[in-house]
Amino acid sequence: MSENKKVEKIVGVKGMNDILPADAPLWELFENTVQSVLKSYGFQQIRTPIVEPTALFARGLGEVTDIVEKEMYSFEDSMNGDKLTLRPENTAGVVRAALEHNLTYDGPKRLWYNGPMFRHERPQRGRYRQFHQVGAEAVGFSGPDIDAELIMMCQRLWDDLGLQNIRLELNSIGNAHERNLHRADLIAYFEQHKDLLDAEAQRRLHSNPLRILDTKNPAMQDMVNKAPKLLDYLDEESKAHFEGVQKILRHNAIPFSINPRLVRGMDYYNRTVFEWVTDELGSQGTVCGGGRYDPLITIFGGKPTPACGFAMGVERLLELMKAAGETHAPSQCDVYLVHQGDEAQMQSFVLGERLRDAGLDVVLHCASAASVGSFKSQMKRADGSGAAYAVIIGEDEAKANTVTIKALRSEDMENNQVSVPFDTAVDYLVDQIAGTGADGDADCCDDPNHIHIHH
Ligand code: ATP
Ligand code: MG
Repeated sequence: MSENKKVEKIVGVKGMNDILPADAPLWELFENTVQSVLKSYGFQQIRTPIVEPTALFARGLGEVTDIVEKEMYSFEDSMNGDKLTLRPENTAGVVRAALEHNLTYDGPKRLWYNGPMFRHERPQRGRYRQFHQVGAEAVGFSGPDIDAELIMMCQRLWDDLGLQNIRLELNSIGNAHERNLHRADLIAYFEQHKDLLDAEAQRRLHSNPLRILDTKNPAMQDMVNKAPKLLDYLDEESKAHFEGVQKILRHNAIPFSINPRLVRGMDYYNRTVFEWVTDELGSQGTVCGGGRYDPLITIFGGKPTPACGFAMGVERLLELMKAAGETHAPSQCDVYLVHQGDEAQMQSFVLGERLRDAGLDVVLHCASAASVGSFKSQMKRADGSGAAYAVIIGEDEAKANTVTIKALRSEDMENNQVSVPFDTAVDYLVDQIAGTGADGDADCCDDPNHIHIHH
């Protein structure tokens, strides 16, 4: 140390973000809104581990998917060699938990979750290596009604968050049999246009041709647009299901457009698939994706159980909220406690607890062991805290058993200070902050020092 050697700083992992206090109020607003909207539809929260056996995702998502092929953070537990993965999504985890705990034994369940997901992607705007998803999974429901309900729940959330310009794209990808019929024609079609396929499409031609429809390669768009449409292969039952979803949406005036090329990244989807898309986020415009995944529970070894769900990207939605001018006031406290001297410090602790008992948010000035700081520097902190009031206990106040209360946001800078007996300070502040100052005045108007504080 004496050689003054420079110590190298350790920085966070690339693509994984710190959510700093300045952004916390926006996250809280988002999360509180999510919680109340999902609760209003009878969804119950489930919290599963962020680490799952690698096999869960390999089996559940399908080997030939972006996620399993190249995006998973997988590792061996150095203690016992278990193959583990940081969850890249949470449908697999929720379904695993539902099966493991037999959650649907007494009927279908509406579940939701919120938490971090991990994918090894190239970090860019709206695309991170740790990001957050809120998702809902309705397990045990087979009808089109729940598909529509999930979609309407999203719409209500956008409305409550003040988000406009998120449009709904809808499609049906049918069942396995219908997809097989379509698949044969699709492969034949792509083979006719082999010269136009990029390397990834060539590779997927026989393993997962449906995903070629999802390509972002502009050179392939025209050819892909003319490919055989899965919608034309649906049987009566699948068609009726898809019609059923649309009927409910139309009846509830939820606008949507049918996108015959919409497929979802994961293998486990069937029938209804949907995405909520915005033009305000550049190329990362999908804020929510979902659909029906009836085959997944049997893939995991459970008895056939239909299910439908969605996952939304929290960071992308927060960016939309910011763009929509969502003002998120920095978190503030009601009272900042300033003190000078041992006796005053003890009284500050007591007063702080009493104010919190009364429901106020209080910051008690804490300082270095050497010095608590001058009044002036403490008052600067009080101002910076955003508190409405500073309560000052100096040596004089401590002796006289009083406190000085200073309104920090008062327009009347001359008359913004009052001295009250220590024991009435809580009532006084509660009255002021609750905005009922008029009622409370009776208690302290005898006090010659009393000055009305106006907000
Ligand atoms: P994309 O086509 O953008 O890669 P995806 O199909 O991989 O999306 P899903 O697996 O369906 O996405 O996840 C649902 C939502 O989660 C996405 O619509 C998006 O809003 C969000 N999301 C997915 N990956 C990321 C990421 N790496 N960073 C931030 N948000 C993400
Ligand atoms: Mg992706």
